[in-house]
Amino acid sequence: MSKSSPEWLDRFLAKVGPPDENGCTLWLASPHSGGYGQFKVNGKCKTAHVLALELATGEHPAGLFALHTCDVKMCVNPDHLYWGTPTQNMADMVSRNRQRKSTARVCERGHRLVKPNLVPGRDARGWRMCLACHRTRCARDHAIRKGREAWSEERMQYTADQKFQQIMESANV
Ligand SMILES: [Zn+2]
Ligand SMILES: [Zn+2]
Repeated sequence: MSKSSPEWLDRFLAKVGPPDENGCTLWLASPHSGGYGQFKVNGKCKTAHVLALELATGEHPAGLFALHTCDVKMCVNPDHLYWGTPTQNMADMVSRNRQRKSTARVCERGHRLVKPNLVPGRDARGWRMCLACHRTRCARDHAIRKGREAWSEERMQYTADQKFQQIMESANV
């Protein structure tokens, strides 16, 4: 890529939105099927965030991909992009997800993970444990051992919501 700014630069920048609260600058034109922004250069369709990183770094290392640190496919902020391999991308995604879940503030059913509803330690998947859901699973397993029919997801949610309320109320007295 040439050092001087390309003739399409203004056209490109006109399609970049202002930074959101995470600093992501989103591509304003519609994405293509992969979910990434696209942009036409000399009649050829290019991927918007790849172009953004090429512009910022002045290169496109052979065999490497423009990867997001923010996981937002439409983000074209070069600060959120780096050259890497697909394997690296997978590994980064997994570690970011793990981090997110180990600091999650609500459980899968939407109960706040605060004392006294927070069980110390983590479950097998590395998630922080919700006491209400834990008690609900115990109650369900108990019912199954007694030979009762399996609980539906609605019943699990309803029971867990009730237990969550009881747990939180017990903390206020
Ligand atoms: Zn971003
Ligand atoms: Zn829960």
